[in-house]
Amino acid sequence: MTAPSPSPAAVHLVGGGPAGLMAAETLAAAGRPVVLHDAMPSVGRKFLLAGKGGLNLTHSEPRPGFDTRYGEAAAALAPWLDAFPPQALCDWAAGLGVDTFVGSSGRVFPAEMKAAPLLRAWVQRLRQQGVVFRMRERWLGFERPAPAPSSDAAEPAQAPPPLRLRFAGPQGESTVPAAACLLALGGASWSRLGSDGAWVAPLAQAGVPIAPLRPANVGFHVGWAGQAAGWSAPLRARQAGAPLKPVRLRMVGPDGTVFDRAGEFVLSDYGVEGSLIYAAGAALREQIAATGACTVHLDLLPAFSLDKVRADIAHPRGPRSLATHLKSRLGLEGAKAALLQEVLHRGLPDTPEQRPDPADAAALATLLKAWPLRLVAPRPIDEAISTAGGVRLDTLSPGLMLPPGPALPAGVFVAGEMLDWEAPTGGYLLQACFASGRYAAQGLLRWLHHTGA
Ligand SMILES: Cc1cc2nc3c(=O)[nH]c(=O)nc-3n(C[C@H](O)[C@H](O)[C@H](O)COP(=O)(O)OP(=O)(O)OC[C@H]3O[C@@H](n4cnc5c(N)ncnc54)[C@H](O)[C@@H]3O)c2cc1C
Repeated sequence: MTAPSPSPAAVHLVGGGPAGLMAAETLAAAGRPVVLHDAMPSVGRKFLLAGKGGLNLTHSEPRPGFDTRYGEAAAALAPWLDAFPPQALCDWAAGLGVDTFVGSSGRVFPAEMKAAPLLRAWVQRLRQQGVVFRMRERWLGFERPAPAPSSDAAEPAQAPPPLRLRFAGPQGESTVPAAACLLALGGASWSRLGSDGAWVAPLAQAGVPIAPLRPANVGFHVGWAGQAAGWSAPLRARQAGAPLKPVRLRMVGPDGTVFDRAGEFVLSDYGVEGSLIYAAGAALREQIAATGACTVHLDLLPAFSLDKVRADIAHPRGPRSLATHLKSRLGLEGAKAALLQEVLHRGLPDTPEQRPDPADAAALATLLKAWPLRLVAPRPIDEAISTAGGVRLDTLSPGLMLPPGPALPAGVFVAGEMLDWEAPTGGYLLQACFASGRYAAQGLLRWLHHTGA
């Protein structure tokens, strides 16, 4: 009689966002028992919030253009996207009964523009696959091994400690031994939904290199040298929330790269926010960190050439006011007209030379084609849509395992927004989170196979 083969050891997953849930699905589908812990009473809270904005799941932009949205991290992310490309994400959603469509901007959304139906169907399927959900269990770190007794002999290199995860739960603290674990703890924004970045301390203590967490896809404060206030009171009162579209934003980044793109954003009480600002956000943030401010130039009339704008402004306007003249000839109104007023009547921007004489058509045209917007600080990280920084990608094994060390057990894998990559909005964030969850779980399965666990 042959002995029954032992059931495979359970994998412990921490973090039930898109990355963790996708990892759970991959592991369970491979026949591994999976226990998923999350500090919150339910999983996917940020995913549900993303659903309030329509749930932009991914983008229809073909690869390799798609990959370039991840900037410097693009090469490191390519294998994740190979493992779970955008089309696979759409097919996967369809498998959960959620059809997707491509919006006019190329962004991909579920037909219902909501996250709840997808999450509900997904969690139900995971339960059927045997995934055990342990809610209200906060991961605190790894159990630290007792220090070895000292001896006079030369110390051998310290072996990694056994993998034991510490949790704080409703019943107090507990320690869980695991064959392997996968952390998908998210970034550090919207902390009330669970992603609070508190994982940085225990991982740093274990010797994991972590790039500082910074806000990404977030608004920026405007400010002008020598002036306490940002926008003038009239602009804040009348234009906060007003869209600025279409507009073109140009800047030279700290490394000399030129950002020059058309799009839209909104004026806010404190400054500016919205997709075009988010797209330029990484360069804006780094420039501000380096020099304290970043001036970008806005083409408020991107549909018209400088010559056309100049000629239209110079066209005789009779008794009409300048504002009426610009509106009728160039369609300049609303938030765009308010920006002109900021310069002409409220003493912006910084230097008097930049303030044109309203009678000087050439100077006015130059201002409308290159309005100097000075940004001085990003909004706080807790407000951000996503987080830059995190576990450094160059420290990870090709399967996304952390390198074991004296304070770091072997068999710890990581996925999702807690890794050091960033991308603009447009579906690129969720796509990378899903794909990294799939890819890290595949790496974990290979590692278990090799170690025989
Ligand atoms: C307002 C808003 C709108 C968004 N819209 C979109 C969009 O339309 N498209 C898009 O691509 N992206 C969008 N995003 C971004 C996207 O939601 C995130 O990038 C994504 O949810 C990150 O997935 P994740 O699995 O890495 O982490 P998260 O979704 O943040 O999940 C992390 C999980 O880990 C748990 N956790 C954290 N620490 C611990 C701990 N110590 N112990 C136990 N559990 C812990 C948390 O409770 C949480 O459940 C949006 C974000 C916001 C804030």
